[in-house]
Amino acid sequence: RAKSQGRNTYCFYQEEMSREVMARLTLENALRLALAREEWVLHFQPQVHLATRRLTGVEALVRWQHPEQGLILPGRFIPIAEEMAIIGDLGAWVLRAACRQMQEWDALGCAVPRVAVNLSVQELERAALVPLVQEVLRETGLAPERLELEVTESMIMCEAGRAIETLRALQQLGVSVAVDDFGTGYSSLRYIKNLPLNRLKVDHAFVQDVGRSHDDDAIVRAIIGLGHSLDLEVVAEGVEREEQREFLQREGCEVGQGYLFGRPVPAEQIVARPLADGAR
Ligand code: C2E
Ligand code: MG
Ligand code: MG
Ligand code: MG
Repeated sequence: RAKSQGRNTYCFYQEEMSREVMARLTLENALRLALAREEWVLHFQPQVHLATRRLTGVEALVRWQHPEQGLILPGRFIPIAEEMAIIGDLGAWVLRAACRQMQEWDALGCAVPRVAVNLSVQELERAALVPLVQEVLRETGLAPERLELEVTESMIMCEAGRAIETLRALQQLGVSVAVDDFGTGYSSLRYIKNLPLNRLKVDHAFVQDVGRSHDDDAIVRAIIGLGHSLDLEVVAEGVEREEQREFLQREGCEVGQGYLFGRPVPAEQIVARPLADGAR
């Protein structure tokens, strides 16, 4: 009896596993097709000056417009694109699309001050990144100061040599660099001091309970202080409530991003807001 149960269990696992393998293969094939068909769409989330709510820029966030499943969020396909080593192609698409969108907004008289684009570690490692950024800037005529690239702590901590050279080269072009999800990785403070960075984005996990948790208040206050002592502008991610905005502003944090100010939306909806304001 035990034996037959064992075998059943084995069969069950095997079936379960091949189902997983199949699902994964299907997803990989669909991703390759998506790349060829450019089934991507960018949404943009506003970043605002905390004191005035004035738009300081937008972050470009990629979505997969799947023909049957609809819009798929990056958490479900970016890690797989990274493993499949196709993130370089996807990343190049995102960079180009984001800069072109800035051009389009400019043409519509709705000047979005800056666009931020997320990078994956493989893109930062590739020697091709700097020439790609140069090419896209030239193609679109976007002023380099209006492009920001977001990297995470772990990307710059473990890929030390190459990543830093690349960041320096990008900064020399005039492009700005932000550390994304700050506080969730592992940074040596002495090390981060010597990095070519412009902005620090406090991860939403710390921002979530500010104004209601003394511990989180203390952590966020410390991160803001750290950012300022390194001459970085501080951006808070995941701001959802007015009490968070008040706390952050009081503590000297310059910029906020989060549902309180706006969710990620298609480009047209970013245009609508400043035009409507400016027209009045
Ligand atoms: P991220 O760069 O930290 O982006 C912020 C994420 O937080 C976005 O999720 C955004 O929708 C979400 N968010 C914004 N405001 C709030 C808020 O007030 N509350 C809550 N709960 N969440 C908020 P999304 O769009 O699903 O993106 C997830 C991650 O995927 C991004 O995190 C980024 O690491 C990655 N990603 C997105 N687009 C790209 C891309 O083009 N290239 C690469 N390499 N990664 C990307
Ligand atoms: Mg980001
Ligand atoms: Mg982030
Ligand atoms: Mg994040």
